[in-house]
Amino acid sequence: MSQNEPVIPKENSFLAEIVQASGETLQVCYQCQKCSAGCPLGDAMDLLPNQVLRHIQYDHREKVLGSKTIWICASCYTCSVRCPNDIDIARIMDTLRHMAIRSGITPGEKDIPVFHSVFLDEIKSRGRIHELSLILKFKSKTRDFLKDTGIGWKMFRLGKIRLLPSTFSGGKEIKEIFNSFEKGKNR
Ligand code: SF4
Ligand code: SF4
Repeated sequence: MSQNEPVIPKENSFLAEIVQASGETLQVCYQCQKCSAGCPLGDAMDLLPNQVLRHIQYDHREKVLGSKTIWICASCYTCSVRCPNDIDIARIMDTLRHMAIRSGITPGEKDIPVFHSVFLDEIKSRGRIHELSLILKFKSKTRDFLKDTGIGWKMFRLGKIRLLPSTFSGGKEIKEIFNSFEKGKNR
């Protein structure tokens, strides 16, 4: 296959799965690399956004779902607005994160998925973030108690980390959002 030839998804392939789950016709990507040239986090990634798309086209499931890139992506949408083929790459990254969690494949970045899950648990249980509880839950899961203690102490002294959670009256509505999402998932 030549570099610029559009790829036709095979039935039950990884490519077909991503096209269906994301709603994006990523097989039309012709590797112009505009997405990667604008990505602010490209230096920290093990695969650039255009390479992620190419690996999907070639059905390299483990390589993509086990990459650091899908967790490092900050969903800033720069790539999506730069793509001349209107491929929403940020949306594809989101689809890949969901798929990676369900796949059981070891994530290329171990702490970021833990942070995502602790962050969501915190929102679900309180309706908003209490930084100290978030840090303690995150630390108890990663077992890396000393990392970032310096910056944590600095934030505490600046009043950015409160000992007690603030009051919030919208907890019920937030729980309803989570419940309706869970119902939608199980349909
Ligand atoms: S900008 Fe679009 S067409 Fe170009 S490499 Fe990225 S995804 Fe492919
Ligand atoms: S959405 Fe993700 S992949 Fe796209 S430019 Fe932003 S950080 Fe990079």
